[in-house]
Amino acid sequence: MKLSILGSTGSIGTQSLDVARLYPEIEIEALTTNRRIDVLESQIREFKPKLAVVTSEDMARDLKVKVADTNTRVLAGRKSLIEAATLDTADTVLNSLVGMVGLDPTFHAIKAGKKIALANKETLVVGGELIMRTAKENGIEIKPVDSEHSAIYQSLMGNDKSGVKRLVLTASGGPFFGKSRDELQSVTAADALKHPNWDMGQKITIDSATMMNKGFEVIEAVHLFGVPADRVDVVVHRESIIHSMVEYVDNSVIAQLGVPDMRIPIQFALTDPARFESPVSQLNLAKIGNLSFYEPDLDTFGCLRICRDAIALSGITPCAVNGANERAVDLFLHGKIGFLQIEEIAQKAYDKFRGEYNCIEDLLECDKEARRMVDEQYGVD
Ligand code: MG
Repeated sequence: MKLSILGSTGSIGTQSLDVARLYPEIEIEALTTNRRIDVLESQIREFKPKLAVVTSEDMARDLKVKVADTNTRVLAGRKSLIEAATLDTADTVLNSLVGMVGLDPTFHAIKAGKKIALANKETLVVGGELIMRTAKENGIEIKPVDSEHSAIYQSLMGNDKSGVKRLVLTASGGPFFGKSRDELQSVTAADALKHPNWDMGQKITIDSATMMNKGFEVIEAVHLFGVPADRVDVVVHRESIIHSMVEYVDNSVIAQLGVPDMRIPIQFALTDPARFESPVSQLNLAKIGNLSFYEPDLDTFGCLRICRDAIALSGITPCAVNGANERAVDLFLHGKIGFLQIEEIAQKAYDKFRGEYNCIEDLLECDKEARRMVDEQYGVD
């Protein structure tokens, strides 16, 4: 396999390289980062990719000096990110970028006939119809890396899809499970960044705390598996051992279980349908003892409801909710707005943006407008 990893220095990216390290038949063709140049330098030395892409020309200049003794070409900017996604010599692209920025590279990688291992959920949240249609036209199957979707993918294997009654996504509930809205008024970014089970990047950890992440995953599941949103349910499962389930018409439920470690879904997205040994710990249910389940609290965590409403409308509305949320999370992380204002902002984007889209450019424009709306209303330059 000749693999390009977009976002190679983040949580999913580094764990993907952990997987690649175990399997020499995985050759790394391109790596990209938007901030951690030092980590990228050591990845370049170890995996010898043909191409490395960073965000800015300044970063590229620094990196070129650092890796002058290697054969890796260094480029900068969004266009170059697409070059990394479509590199001739690669056959597979693992997209672990964070946010809307992942949409365009996924689209072009599909067009270029690459196999896709998708960790960037915003690709499907924002442009699910377009991406799935383009994948179908190009004969490309998108392999989910998100743990819930990998679990559903695995629980669907060998079964007739016409027998599916509903998909059940599990949610950890995040750090604020059981809290009231009153208590959520004053929580800080540091509180929100303490996730009980998963070690993830900042953006997705905040999305997990608001449960926006689970809302996005409902939308992602609708597109990936072609099941309408009213047949995608969410159950809070505090231990994150059952990664998600499929219920069939005979009320038989098939689930995938494992310790919460992203290297399992990453590896399976790359090796499917083959399975290989993994350094991930074995699941010891007797030691865990109990698994607990709860209904999600949609009154306290409104972002999940907003996502359900947005996917029901489809068109540009999910894109607007995503763009506003990305900006809101950024403002929250910088202490500029309160935790509950993230939901308030997402609701405003939901209320304001309606209509269809035809192409990637329409989505990029909608994203920009949604961010502008946030900046105008919350007084940020
Ligand atoms: Mg997930």
